[in-house]
Amino acid sequence: MSTDPDCIFCKIAAGRIPSHKVYEDDHVFAFLDINPLSEGHTLIIPKTHAVTLDQLPADSLAACGLAVKKIAPALVKVTQCPDWNLLQNNGKLAGQVVMHVHFHLIPRREGDGLGFRWPAGKLSADRATELKTAIIEKI
Ligand code: 5GP
Ligand code: ZN
Repeated sequence: MSTDPDCIFCKIAAGRIPSHKVYEDDHVFAFLDINPLSEGHTLIIPKTHAVTLDQLPADSLAACGLAVKKIAPALVKVTQCPDWNLLQNNGKLAGQVVMHVHFHLIPRREGDGLGFRWPAGKLSADRATELKTAIIEKI
């Protein structure tokens, strides 16, 4: 397992910085966000250090997905919010502040004012063909 001695989330996962832990297993640590977007806002992190999702080993990524499946229904019960967002930012331009992979689980309430719509663009058939061909070549 790789860790970064300067990473705040590595320190939280190791218990060296206190947090309100809600779940832990061999690969995953989950805790309440210190500045929640809504009550129950939880962060799920892999114990191994990686900056972006694509850099995460497959077993850690799978464990994070399973943790979402475990924790989300508990949050729904406790907060009585029927719905929730799963948010995962990769890189500064995408809004990532803490450079250790994390999944935000954000309970949603009617009228919570958080919003969810981003302005959508348009995609021509020609550009779509170019894009998908280029992407397929790189996968
Ligand atoms: P990002 O913008 O990187 O996707 O989100 C980082 C999140 O980590 C933010 O929601 C922020 O409130 C949370 N956070 C940052 N430092 C700490 C901390 O020391 N403890 C806890 N519990 N959450 C933190
Ligand atoms: Zn880290």
